Amino acid sequence: MDKGTLLFSVDLEDVRASIKNGDQYQERVPVNTERYLDFLRSHKIKGTFFVVGKLARQYPDLVKSIVGEGHEIACHSNTHVQLTKQSPESFRRDINDNLEALHWAGAENIVGFRAPTFSLTSKTAWAYDILGDLGFQYSSSVLPAKNPLYGWPDFGGQPKQMGNGLWEIPITLHTLPWLNIPVVGGVYFRIIPFFLISFSVKHHVRENRPILAYLHPYDIDEEQERFMHPDLSDNKLLNYLMYVNRSKVFGRLERLRKLCRFSSYQDYIQEQLEISVLLAS
Ligand SMILES: [Zn+2]
Repeated sequence: MDKGTLLFSVDLEDVRASIKNGDQYQERVPVNTERYLDFLRSHKIKGTFFVVGKLARQYPDLVKSIVGEGHEIACHSNTHVQLTKQSPESFRRDINDNLEALHWAGAENIVGFRAPTFSLTSKTAWAYDILGDLGFQYSSSVLPAKNPLYGWPDFGGQPKQMGNGLWEIPITLHTLPWLNIPVVGGVYFRIIPFFLISFSVKHHVRENRPILAYLHPYDIDEEQERFMHPDLSDNKLLNYLMYVNRSKVFGRLERLRKLCRFSSYQDYIQEQLEISVLLAS
């Protein structure tokens, strides 16, 4: 079987910023980001870091290190507010603030966006026009299924160009009759048995789809203090799962390298644009 493409990303945000009195907990983002950079460097892989504007203001040196190692920096909103809580006007302001913070920290040529908690749905699809206006080339913000939080069930699993030419790269899901699981995403990637991840990845590779992978600083953090994570409705079981198998992430990524070559999102989009030019000629 030919290798597939895995789009590697880290959503760079500080989970402490989304909880009450979060500052009382240890600062963990820089040390965990360095570990992702070590992993990428040791395998000569380029990845994408979707960075919250507020975090870039806090850690400009971290942004510079990411850029210095040749990785892509993309937008992940200014303060991690979901699109469903924004109007088109406030979203435009938010993205401009996000861009300004990233530029200030030393990132250039920003062409990608990921909505906080994949909150781009059919109801917030107005965001594509704004992203297009601001010069973005792609978004990776859609969960193409029914979901208790967000979701766009009839989007389909393949990346596609929206009306204004902007690409959307939806989450890679493993579909069970009662559940859709983002197979290489955050907590799911940690708790699902690896044979199921491998089975699902192979299926998507055969279907010629890129594998969308997203992780956070805390996904690899075995030393993070215990606290209730945001967006879990204070559910203790879900919060327990947030801490499970954090030590397994890098090992699992190593195993996926046998099935896929890893790429940044920007490089993948560039390839798609080149293919579409070839097909049109
Ligand atoms: Zn996020």
